Amino acid sequence: MRQKHCLVLSSVLVVIVVGLAVTLFVLQPDVMCPKPNVIFSAVQAEPGEFFVVRVDPLGEDGSVLVEAPFITEDPCFFRQGKGLVALIPVGYRSDPGVYALEVAVTKGSKTIYDTEQVFTVNARNFAIQKLYVSPELHAKRDETLWADDHMYTGHARAQSNPDPLWHGPFLEPLKGRITTQFGQIRYINDQESGRHSGLDIASPQGTPVVATNDGAVALARPLNVTGNTVILDHGLNLFTSYSHLDQIAVELGQRVTKGQVIGTVGSTGFSTGSHLHWTVSIGGTFVDPYFVLESADYLEGAILRGELSD
Ligand SMILES: [Zn+2]
Repeated sequence: MRQKHCLVLSSVLVVIVVGLAVTLFVLQPDVMCPKPNVIFSAVQAEPGEFFVVRVDPLGEDGSVLVEAPFITEDPCFFRQGKGLVALIPVGYRSDPGVYALEVAVTKGSKTIYDTEQVFTVNARNFAIQKLYVSPELHAKRDETLWADDHMYTGHARAQSNPDPLWHGPFLEPLKGRITTQFGQIRYINDQESGRHSGLDIASPQGTPVVATNDGAVALARPLNVTGNTVILDHGLNLFTSYSHLDQIAVELGQRVTKGQVIGTVGSTGFSTGSHLHWTVSIGGTFVDPYFVLESADYLEGAILRGELSD
């Protein structure tokens, strides 16, 4: 009788243990991978602005995909603390509207979490500029010359420091009169020639141009259209560029500090007079330098100190 009792008890125990093991096995992905938080620094933006997405916590084998019709370049995620962060630009050609922004988090080959975020792109009107230049100067904007330049600039922006190199607010590269705004729609000799990717700041030849924040020199060379050009990598895919320089004062790979002179104002390349063409981009997507002047400090805090909240 006692033996029979024992047998029943041990059978029950075996069933419980096996049941537990099966349950744990089935639940394993959830036990091993707690759902990460997906945090946005903003859920609306104007063309020319950018926002931060943070996925936290997420282990070393985790990756994130973000998709929306206005995202034209795959966002680059970088490890910061226990999670991943990416700066995501809203390009100047983005159509205003309410979008479903899809975020998929994968671990190895498995999607462990996906979610949709409503994201609004607000309307923004860009000014129109008409420019008349000599046929010789117009020839400098030839497609093959552009393509040649893009080979260098594309390579320079293809990778970025995995940590933010910038600290605190950005500076203006020099003081001067703004002659062309960001995103301005340009007509050259009555032909639409695209949008203006940065700010034009008029200043006499030889005026010092400073690094707008700490960074590393990703390009320093003459180009066909933008003349003598410097591109700085500020980390996390954030870049600034300085074009039509008279002199270049830095070398490829060199670290620069905020306020350091990197060259002088000139009129090299496709230029109608002495000025600086200053751009800010996330990878190859240009954003409004004014937005960066106003927001980079906050975004640095958001990234480094995890001050983003949902
Ligand atoms: Zn310009």
